[in-house]
Amino acid sequence: MNIMHLLLPGEYILTAPTRWHYLYRNSKSDDFIERLGLELNRCNPQNLFDNRLFSYQTIISELGWIKGFTKHDFNCYQTAYLLPQDLESWEKDKVLDIFGAHSTHMKYWRWCPKCIIEDEEQFGVPYYHRDHQLPGVFHCQKHCEILNDKCDACGWYVRSLKEQCIPPFNNVCPNCGHSISNPEILTTETIKSIELASLKLANTDYTPKRLNALQYNIRKSAGILSIAENTVEERKRLRDWQYHFFSSFIESELRSWFRKLQPHNGLMVSPLMRHSRLTKSKPLSKPLHPLAYLLVEHFLKQSLGLEGHEELAA
Ligand SMILES: [Zn+2]
Ligand SMILES: [Zn+2]
Repeated sequence: MNIMHLLLPGEYILTAPTRWHYLYRNSKSDDFIERLGLELNRCNPQNLFDNRLFSYQTIISELGWIKGFTKHDFNCYQTAYLLPQDLESWEKDKVLDIFGAHSTHMKYWRWCPKCIIEDEEQFGVPYYHRDHQLPGVFHCQKHCEILNDKCDACGWYVRSLKEQCIPPFNNVCPNCGHSISNPEILTTETIKSIELASLKLANTDYTPKRLNALQYNIRKSAGILSIAENTVEERKRLRDWQYHFFSSFIESELRSWFRKLQPHNGLMVSPLMRHSRLTKSKPLSKPLHPLAYLLVEHFLKQSLGLEGHEELAA
């Protein structure tokens, strides 16, 4: 076993084959690595429910290179709010279509300028970290650095992992040679709070209790625990609840997280925030992007004054 085959600390599993390809591109070891790596050409950093994950994990597990992928994949993050039957179908069929899969704002591969220097010193090569690609995360937690994703001087960004198998050495733009600078980002207490919640979610094992507690507390917060579903009174109270939920965020925060906002009752909101999965106990619609649930959990924490979703349940 060569150290370069291992997943490096916090490395995103979907990008490991491109790093192996980079390191082995002129050797015989590249045969199967190249096949894996080349498949990644169109890989999006926030592709939730990417079924390539299973094949990589199977290959890596069979080779005995590593056990446990919690620090390396999006599995905990993407499955956190699934109904048990959705989770079952994902594990069985390796296909799951979710609402909002392409709605988050960040779409480029990202890296921390300090991590790439440290990684190069320690492992000889910079690599893409899982935590840096998570929706709602804008900083490296280790260095408190803003994550970089493109060159302001020429507009270069990582269009494909095949072209840019690893983040740019020394944070220098491979296209124009300028040093890549930090993007301007909005930082508020709410954005920081969602950032930490996203990172925590990515390391927390699935339990159906999480969604149950959340739905219970939405209904409690809306004052409809004892009101029958699909009644006029329930709909009215849910509309009022939604208004309070929507107006607890400022528009620029929502623009940091989501690509598109739409007007709704005088407010600009993301369609994810209006999805029926948030308020119906037996939704018929597609599963929803976890970021919307994190916003609800944040709102409930603020409005009910309780700490964390676990304690919110009755
Ligand atoms: Zn860092
Ligand atoms: Zn450039």
